Amino acid sequence: MKIQSMGFVIAILVVATAALGCALYACYGATAWNGGSGDTLYQIMPYGAMASGIYSGNATLGELRQHGAFGIGAYIGMEGEMVLLDGQFYQIRTDGVAYLMNDSVKTPYAQVTYFEPDITFSVNETMTYTEVRDYVDKLLPTENMVYAIKITGEFGSATARSVPKQSEPYPPLSEVVKNQTVFNLSKISGSALGFRCPSLLGEAVFPGYHMHFLSGDKASGGHLLDFELSSGTIEVDVTPGFEIVFLESPQFYEYAPSR
Ligand SMILES: [Zn+2]
Repeated sequence: MKIQSMGFVIAILVVATAALGCALYACYGATAWNGGSGDTLYQIMPYGAMASGIYSGNATLGELRQHGAFGIGAYIGMEGEMVLLDGQFYQIRTDGVAYLMNDSVKTPYAQVTYFEPDITFSVNETMTYTEVRDYVDKLLPTENMVYAIKITGEFGSATARSVPKQSEPYPPLSEVVKNQTVFNLSKISGSALGFRCPSLLGEAVFPGYHMHFLSGDKASGGHLLDFELSSGTIEVDVTPGFEIVFLESPQFYEYAPSR
């Protein structure tokens, strides 16, 4: 693979500065709260609790929008897949179509931030999803940080999925995905976006990469299972801040964490 960038050394220095400088949380947190555009991951509900079957959240997209213009998540009842890109919410349903969503719609789980890349590099030879993850991993100064990731370009293929709306009593996510619909998109431009979260956060997050896809024409996408990137740009936003919101519900009050 051939990768053009300003140079690995420069890229790594940028990350190291972000990771090690200015007693970082305070520094970035201050930026976040003063300007509303800092490097904080704002999350609705712990991933593990959601995945146990808590899909009846009461946070609205309008509330989410106060904390980011970029992100991924789920919709009430687990209907479809959420993409938030450039401040616009999309719901990719099992028909494969991306629908625009308004601010009154509710979510049981979401991760959003303001995307401001710290590392950018371009790719002009085919890279698989696995190769991209391995490559980005090598650039990161530590596994113990949250990173927002955006890959924009031409994809030789993108395999994505969506899940159907559930009814109560909600089954766990492991059951829901058995009925997922998989879309095999080919020769498509678009954006893969999401987060790489550290395992040290336990079941609060999905550990590793969790990314969704939205086509360049904003018509299709889904939860990403695999892709082949032909050419494009990979951007990484080092995200030292983490804010999580617990939604009040009887189900959550009684939820028993696995550890
Ligand atoms: Zn997903």
